[in-house]
Amino acid sequence: MTTDTNDFGALPLSPQVLANLTQLGYVRMTPIQAAALPLALLGKDLIAQAKTGSGKTAAFALALLANLNPRRFAVQAMVLCPTRELADQVTTEIRRLARAEENIKVVTLCGGVALRGQTASLEHGAHVVVGTPGRIMDHLERGNLDLAALNTLVLDEADRMLDMGFFDDIAKVARQCPAARQTLLFSATYPEGIAQLSKQFMKSPQQVTVQAQH
Ligand code: ADP
Ligand code: MG
Repeated sequence: MTTDTNDFGALPLSPQVLANLTQLGYVRMTPIQAAALPLALLGKDLIAQAKTGSGKTAAFALALLANLNPRRFAVQAMVLCPTRELADQVTTEIRRLARAEENIKVVTLCGGVALRGQTASLEHGAHVVVGTPGRIMDHLERGNLDLAALNTLVLDEADRMLDMGFFDDIAKVARQCPAARQTLLFSATYPEGIAQLSKQFMKSPQQVTVQAQH
């Protein structure tokens, strides 16, 4: 069997993860995945720009899962999203992509939901948290969320988060993350605020862009 360079099989992923991708019907990488994943899996910071529906979630999800030690019961990855709906979608996709591995716990932290249940989920132990910047900040201020073991920070739909006025919350959250981490920023567009975020919170980020097809 031959492996195309744009097949997931060309990536340094475990046989279990590759088998799960096949089961999900993910055989060929989308263009943004093919551009982002080889760099992300090397541990590089990335600014990835591609339109909606181009498969950005799996690009960062596979990278954060590769950095994760399931036997370590601590939050190792965090994804910031603009809305609860998007956070729920990202959580679902990470769980689907993680199901080949040992029990990986993903907890969603968004506003509009009682804090208590989220706090209880965090107490039970989470490997990955996905949520909106305000609610994540809230849990940090209450001492519910320990980021000492975090190794991957993802800013998803960064342009929308900036549109919604989340710059300060993102900055506060990012400042509480360990300096030795990988930061992945995904966006459909590249407004000025993104350059500012990357300058303040990323280390020599590589930029990958997939232009919309006309
Ligand atoms: P974006 O975040 O760029 O808007 P999503 O990550 O939500 O895009 O992906 C859009 C859709 O494409 C989802 O339904 C997802 O399951 C599917 N998808 C992602 N990557 C692949 C792939 N490599 N092969 C097939 N389907 C994919
Ligand atoms: Mg997305």
